[in-house]
Amino acid sequence: MTVIQITALRVFAILCAFWIDIGAAAQPVFFEVERDVHIKSSQADYVVRSRSVTAEKDRLLAAGVMGELRPTVELNMFNDVVMRGVVEQSTPTSSGYALAGVIDGLTPSSMTIVVNGDVIVGEIHTPSAVYLIRTASSGRYTILEMDPRILHFTDGDCGTTAPEVAIHPGAAIEQKFEDLGVIGERTIGSKPNDMPAAESGVYTPQTRQQVDFVALPEDTTCKGLEEQPNVVDMLVVYTHDAVTEAQGKDQLLALFDQGLAYTNLALSSSGVKVSLRITGTFQTDYIETGNKNTDLARLSGKDDGYMDDVHPMRNACIADIVYLVVGRSNVRGVASTSVPFGLIRSDALVGVWAHEIGHNFGVLHDRWTHYEFEKNSGPTSYRHAHAIYPAPEGATFDCYLTRVAYNTRCGPEATFYFLQRFSNPNNLFLGVPMGIEGSQLVTGVDGPSNAVRIMNQSSERLMNQRPRARLELLYEAIVDSPTMRRMLLEEQGMASSRMPRPSLAQ
Ligand SMILES: [Zn+2]
Repeated sequence: MTVIQITALRVFAILCAFWIDIGAAAQPVFFEVERDVHIKSSQADYVVRSRSVTAEKDRLLAAGVMGELRPTVELNMFNDVVMRGVVEQSTPTSSGYALAGVIDGLTPSSMTIVVNGDVIVGEIHTPSAVYLIRTASSGRYTILEMDPRILHFTDGDCGTTAPEVAIHPGAAIEQKFEDLGVIGERTIGSKPNDMPAAESGVYTPQTRQQVDFVALPEDTTCKGLEEQPNVVDMLVVYTHDAVTEAQGKDQLLALFDQGLAYTNLALSSSGVKVSLRITGTFQTDYIETGNKNTDLARLSGKDDGYMDDVHPMRNACIADIVYLVVGRSNVRGVASTSVPFGLIRSDALVGVWAHEIGHNFGVLHDRWTHYEFEKNSGPTSYRHAHAIYPAPEGATFDCYLTRVAYNTRCGPEATFYFLQRFSNPNNLFLGVPMGIEGSQLVTGVDGPSNAVRIMNQSSERLMNQRPRARLELLYEAIVDSPTMRRMLLEEQGMASSRMPRPSLAQ
């Protein structure tokens, strides 16, 4: 039986198991219990209130069955906060389901919930509050209402800016993309300068070299290795501190699924034609430094003595993008717009991860942030995030931001909200385009912004980071003889890795 057949059977079994409960989806999910709630010190400043509950998981899982109509689930977060979640995407995870959608009647809003066996995590964004669902112990869950300012993301929270500019100032970035065939038109602007050498202490991305296969970590497992069209595969590496911060490995893994579900809904509803998939996760024994540049450089460095097993693992799991999830860092996230590596803090996996992954697809911050804080930068194309400011008449907030934008455009006094969207002038929010059309290279704030255009252009490059590993997998599926497989690989100019493929995760 092929991997595809096994996966299909598993999904079918889950669907059958919960089909009977579809009618129950309108009933509340949570039931309050008497119990003290433990609040992490890092969250304490933002907690408005909390309660301890048990959960009818089947009602959440029933909402994962996508019929003709969008399924709904009644989320009684508190006795006076009962919302109807509308599921727009449901995806099987390695041990359960991820649901992504919106809250009925609230615009803008987002709902992302993961049920992995006994572990439930969730995050709901509405104009007035943020709600978190976390797993406690003994079948109990914690519901937290948070001050929405916990989502505020201002200059410095993302570490991508300065190092990228230090390495590829100005138009050199654009040239790099043009060389890759990503940007087709070049109507304004002079020839770019040569790239200067990276300054010491600044994150230096490794080029995409073929990595020599070395021994794999012993408990390596990869999942979902069957080829799927239009999917970018990710390897997620996490530290001991990340596990501690997430209050357990199972909860951390569920938070990865949650961040992925949020990002995938943001991609598809914005018009990006690819989705993301996690094909491998593993815990590294690397002791994080708390410094983004150091940790990210050590992640991407292939033979520097730090996390070098990431690279064979990346090949084994055919992962295009690699993320390191840390428990503490001087930023919430950092990523490269030129190589597919990034770092994310475990408390920022919803929203900020979508921001950082946007950078991996080549998206830059909004033009106001880019030119206010990255003044050395030269002309840039349409690959910017977008801020809707002033907001349309009747809107709740002063300013609305697409992913990868900061609130620089709105100013420090304005209220703002992060949409689950990437900039695209063809999409409207309250009747206003979420981007600006155009192909010209512009220095300054008045220029085009269309993240989705660059993301669709760069997705082919991102999906094809591991050509040899992909070919090996294909030959393994269709050619029995190892000798024949080796010959076929050599014919393609690719030496065999002679590496045992790890077992597939159940
Ligand atoms: Zn950023």
